[in-house]
Amino acid sequence: MAEAKITYRAKDPTKCPLCGHQFYHEVMHTGGGRMNAANLSDELHRGYNPSQKYGAVYPLLYPVVVCPQCWYAAYPKHFMVPGSMSKDMISTLQKKSDERKKMIRPLFDHVDFKRDRTLAEGISSYVLAAACYDEFPKTLSPSFYRGLSFLRAGWLARDINTVQPNEHYDYMAEIFLRKASFFYYEVLIRQEEGSETLEDVTHYGPDIDTNFGFDGVLYLIGVLQLKYGGERNSAKRAAILKSAQTTVSKIVGFGEFSKGKPSVLLDLGRELYNAIKKELQALG
Ligand SMILES: [Zn+2]
Repeated sequence: MAEAKITYRAKDPTKCPLCGHQFYHEVMHTGGGRMNAANLSDELHRGYNPSQKYGAVYPLLYPVVVCPQCWYAAYPKHFMVPGSMSKDMISTLQKKSDERKKMIRPLFDHVDFKRDRTLAEGISSYVLAAACYDEFPKTLSPSFYRGLSFLRAGWLARDINTVQPNEHYDYMAEIFLRKASFFYYEVLIRQEEGSETLEDVTHYGPDIDTNFGFDGVLYLIGVLQLKYGGERNSAKRAAILKSAQTTVSKIVGFGEFSKGKPSVLLDLGRELYNAIKKELQALG
């Protein structure tokens, strides 16, 4: 019997705008019962049931394009954007190639973007993307993409923890999710001060199957702050949670506001509103 393939290589090569290396990005086959959708988590993450034929599949391993030579990483629509990549940006990203590789070393023993991706490459692809987006212009919504990348890295770190428990991957997940909570909150702050826009974002995700739009971002700000918010000062934490609660109330608002919004988001939003309320009472 032929091996049950989960992925294939893109027919057309991708050329790295930093080092000129040409490679074939790995893409997931979507049909044939590979994606056996399960529940949606309170973080809007879609679970997939393993199938007998394909085993466990992780569709999130493949969205980020990574150059196997210099480890430049970005989402497909940004991997090569000639008009938006200044000479300075390209030269900084070129210089940081070694830094990127060093950054991943403490996380996994072996990472190789020439081979078919494993959870190690999948997680690393998001950590690398988060680092590369730090150099991206404000018009391309870098805070949003950094938050999204750390969120997905956190989910995949949880997956690897399930496969290989007792290797501290749960701790790794916690760190990534804390970073995600920071950057999602930054999205809100930068929107308000007008220093970054979300105009360039077409798929807010946060997962690949559903686009919850800007409402999803607002919801995630609340859920991530509640679960992973890094603020230790209780007065400051209360202030952040209060602002998150106001934001969430806008999504689940009654009457006109909630028209046309996915009911799953409204239900989760209401639960979140009450959970934040409880936490605020506990903080005093
Ligand atoms: Zn490259």
